[in-house]
Amino acid sequence: MQHILIFGDQLNLEVFGAFNPDNTQFLMLESTTRGRTYGFHKQKLALVYAAMRHFRLELEQSGFRVHYRSCEAFSDGLKAHFDEFPRLELGLMQPSDFGMDSSLSEIVSQLGGTLEIFANPLWLSTNTDFDAWAQGKKEWRMEFFYRQMRKKTGWLMDGQDPKGGAWNFDADNRQVPKPGHQFPPKLEFTPDAITLEALDWVEGMFKAHPGSLEGFNWAVTRDQALQALTHFLEHRLALFGPFEDALVEGEDQLYHSLLSPAINIGLLSAREVCIAALEFAAKPENNVPLQSIEGFTRQILGWREFMHHVYRRQMPALRLENQLNASRALPDFYWTGKTKMRCISSAVTQVLATGHTHHIQRLMVLGNFALLAGISPQAINDWFLTLYVDAFDWVVTPNVIGMSQYANAGGFTSKPYIAGGAYISRMSNHCKTCAFNPKLTTGVTACPFSSLYWDFIDRHAAMFKNNPRMGIPISNWNKRDPSERTAILERNREVLALLEQNLL
Ligand code: FAD
Ligand code: SF4
Repeated sequence: MQHILIFGDQLNLEVFGAFNPDNTQFLMLESTTRGRTYGFHKQKLALVYAAMRHFRLELEQSGFRVHYRSCEAFSDGLKAHFDEFPRLELGLMQPSDFGMDSSLSEIVSQLGGTLEIFANPLWLSTNTDFDAWAQGKKEWRMEFFYRQMRKKTGWLMDGQDPKGGAWNFDADNRQVPKPGHQFPPKLEFTPDAITLEALDWVEGMFKAHPGSLEGFNWAVTRDQALQALTHFLEHRLALFGPFEDALVEGEDQLYHSLLSPAINIGLLSAREVCIAALEFAAKPENNVPLQSIEGFTRQILGWREFMHHVYRRQMPALRLENQLNASRALPDFYWTGKTKMRCISSAVTQVLATGHTHHIQRLMVLGNFALLAGISPQAINDWFLTLYVDAFDWVVTPNVIGMSQYANAGGFTSKPYIAGGAYISRMSNHCKTCAFNPKLTTGVTACPFSSLYWDFIDRHAAMFKNNPRMGIPISNWNKRDPSERTAILERNREVLALLEQNLL
């Protein structure tokens, strides 16, 4: 009889249901120490624990014996298991988090057993796909890896050429919904007894953790995850592309899928999500423009796969990278939402309530502010890891350290993702109700993003002087009248002083 350990982010019925119940039993460890590691958001804990408890039942209903052990640390659960089944050879699907395989191997061998790791078939690309592509390349760019993956899968291809004559339609994806725009309905789940019990348990066990469980609405079963996928296809995929970058006050979903938690814990596979979207978009009656299906496919086949390989290849150094020597402490408002900057208070309030904000809030509001203000990349990385329901080290660390904070020596982005108030004002309606004015760079009501932006350009100009993508902002800064530059930098000193005093 073989025993296989299943982690809380590996809840995939297609993979584990394919084993034979006559010769396979499963082990699941519900560890409270693991839940406390980062002081995770309550909704993240409820998501994982509720999904694990449902998954156990689904396996049992498929005829498997599941040893479900509640424990403090993983090592306690493993000890209890090996006490009952000495000298076991334990199977484990390759874990995503760095070092997990070796640390578990060590624990298992101390308990007198062995750990056999098998490959994770849920990734769309193999290690060989990426390593062969990356071989000899000085710089890794997601766009080119994505093109290779398009060719490999044949998705959105006309022979060897990309469908529609271009690989990427991002230039068409910059629209902002008009005032009064009616967004599609949201899918609501009614929690069953197992979910309610998990919510109660999390509230009691992790009382001091951030976030609220009120309104918990994440898919925790395979069936709910499939409903979420169908709902996204039917109501949102068509406009996913055009409004992908928009920010709207009070709208947490817009046309995004909200599928990352279900994909990251294994309830849905990346492959089935892409195939379902491609098949839906291929039916003319569904009116899905190419820019939407291409944009959505790129997020998963491109960005998600690429980040996984960057993490695999660049850890453990990636986590500690800090090429801009940023060291400022994380301001309190990242934990409370209490700031006069409307775009930030709106995003933080939302993440505390739901454990989620969409990509542009992460990248161009929360991440952008941290980068411009010189906040320690490790501090903001830990914050993202703590507060998001879909946060797992393999996806947070490359997105934050690499993409958002430009901390890993140029890494895989050709320029930092930075913007002043004018960008946020163009892409959102936050500025209309903000205490600051995105058009101003000096004076007490000037948008902090704008003076921070120019200060960033000024202090890092030497580093970016040979970067063709930074040429325009640097030359715009240099063209400004010296007195104007001095006034902006002076305003920025005020902004930083207010930040230090938690008065921004
Ligand atoms: P959609 O906009 O509907 O996109 C579809 C899917 O594409 C997502 O569900 C996700 O699986 C995938 N995807 C899109 N972009 C990325 C990306 N850059 N990396 C990996 N997958 C991607 N994603 C996480 O899954 N967990 C995180 O903790 C996380 N932290 C992030 C932190 C920062 C600073 C940034 C810039 C991005 C982060 N992302 C993270 C990527 C992305 O923001 C989220 O995947 C996305 O917002 C999830 O919402 P959604 O499911 O509605 O996505
Ligand atoms: Fe954010 Fe500046 Fe706009 Fe206020 S004015 S919402 S701080 S971008």
